[in-house]
Formats: sequence, structure tokens, C-alpha cells
Amino acid sequence: MAEPFDYDVPLPPPSVPGSVAWMWMMNTALDLAKLSLVLINALVFMIIVYITQRQKTGENVDKIVKKSDDQNKKRRVGFVIAHPDDEAMFFTPLIQSLSSQPYIELFLICLSTGNFDGLGKVRTKELAKSCHVLSISDSPNSILEITSVQQVAPSKVTIVENDKLQDGMKNKWDETLILEFVEAFVKANDIESIITFDPHGISSHPNHINVHNGVKKFIQKNRNISAWQLITTSLPRKYIGVFDILLCPVLDQNNLIFFSPNPVVSYRAMEAHYSQFVWFRKLFVFFSKYAYTNTLNKIQ
Ligand SMILES: [Zn+2]
Repeated sequence: MAEPFDYDVPLPPPSVPGSVAWMWMMNTALDLAKLSLVLINALVFMIIVYITQRQKTGENVDKIVKKSDDQNKKRRVGFVIAHPDDEAMFFTPLIQSLSSQPYIELFLICLSTGNFDGLGKVRTKELAKSCHVLSISDSPNSILEITSVQQVAPSKVTIVENDKLQDGMKNKWDETLILEFVEAFVKANDIESIITFDPHGISSHPNHINVHNGVKKFIQKNRNISAWQLITTSLPRKYIGVFDILLCPVLDQNNLIFFSPNPVVSYRAMEAHYSQFVWFRKLFVFFSKYAYTNTLNKIQ
């Protein structure tokens, strides 16, 4: 005869509070270990991408301006920006990549003094300092201040204070006047290649967009000069910071990619703009992809 079923199965011992805490700690430690592994893998991958891409910098620079056969002749590249600090906020990976080439000389024209808060004079001096930090100019005080196209002269750094080009979201800039300033700047400094904003102006600032349109008008008139635009990315990508290094080779296969050789220089250039260096700009330098990567394509 079968044994009667024993309904009196002993229950498991009640859990001990100490063992629950131990299990929780073990699980958390395991989760942290998994997360660390993922982060280490991402970091190693990022370093490999960075090294591979940095090796292509020479090729990409060569597309902007070709190395001269004449050792003594430096090739001249000019930046056209709207406000003092645009160079530090957006263009530093490219500026550093170009300025590290011994055969390239850089020039910059800023089409306003950024006088929105009445700080035009202060911001002019700050731009001179920032351009020195970025190795565009040899002196932290060297800047040509002009008000009209007729005053454009040879200078590494030029700043314009003109009634038709006043800093402000509501101020529409005269694009024909921009063309004239760019034309005079290129001629005075014997520039071969220029770099500016794309049609979206990175931050959609109307002054940036006017600068792009003015440069485009100039290029349509002067086909012997090549012009390149800094590509505006989507908003989430804009604040992805250093991780954009991983996205560039996937999303920018047809564009020129430049990685910053030293992101600390971006911070130091922005620091030179002392009157503008408020907390959110400090965060911007840290989290913005433009402190680590620049991607460009040609203005047609
Ligand atoms: Zn700006």
C-alpha cells in the first residue's frame, strides 16, 4: 500500500535579514561590474576610432588646402564668423588641426563686436586673446578694428563694427555687405580657402545664417576660392560631447572629420571670453560635441 502523502512538508527557513542584504550587495556588485565592462569596451573602442581618425587629419587638411611644393610659401585659410566667441564655441577642433600644420597660416574676420549688451570693446579684446590661445595670432593684443570695407588691411585677426552688422537675434544683416567684407578680407590676406557656418548656423542664430549666405554669394562670384561649412547636427547629437567621436565615422562618411587634438584648448579659448564665460557656457564647452569634433563639407 502506498504511503499516504505527507502534507506536512517543512517550509523553508524564514529568510535571515543579513542574507537578503548580502544577496542585494552581490547583485549590485554584479550589475556594476557589467556596466564597467560596457564602459571600458566603449572607451577602448573610442580610443581606437580616435587614433584611426586622427591619422586621417593630414588627408582632410589637404582637402581644405593643399600642401605647397614651395617650402617657403604658406597656405592661407580664413575663418569668417559672426560674433567674438563663435571661434571658441564651435570651431576649435578644426582650428587646432589646421594650426598644427607648419605650412598653414590662419586668419579670422569677425563681422560684429558682439555689442548686444554694450560690451563690444571688451569682447574685441577677448577675441584677440582667444585667437592667441588658438595659435591664430602671435600676440594676445593683436587685432585690426574696422568699421568699413575700405579699412580692411592685412591682419591675422580683424573685427568689424558696422551699423548694418549689429549683434542680435532680431537684426537682419546685409548679406551684400558681408560679401564685400569677405572679398576685401580674402584679397588683403591672400587667402585661398575660407571656412564658415552652414545654412543652419549651428545654433540657428540669424546672424550666423546671414554670414553663411554672404559667404555663399562671395563664392558664387569667386570660384577660384574654396569655401567649407561647419555642419549643424541634430540637437541630441549636439550635446553628446566626447561620444560624438563614435558617431562621426558612421554618420559623416562623406564629410571631412576633425577631432580635437586637445579639448582643454577649447576650454581655455572660451575662458578668454571672460565676459561671456557664465555657468551654462562652461557646461556647453564640456557637453558640446563641437569642443571635440567638427565635420565639414564644401559650399557649392
Ligand atoms: Zn555667434
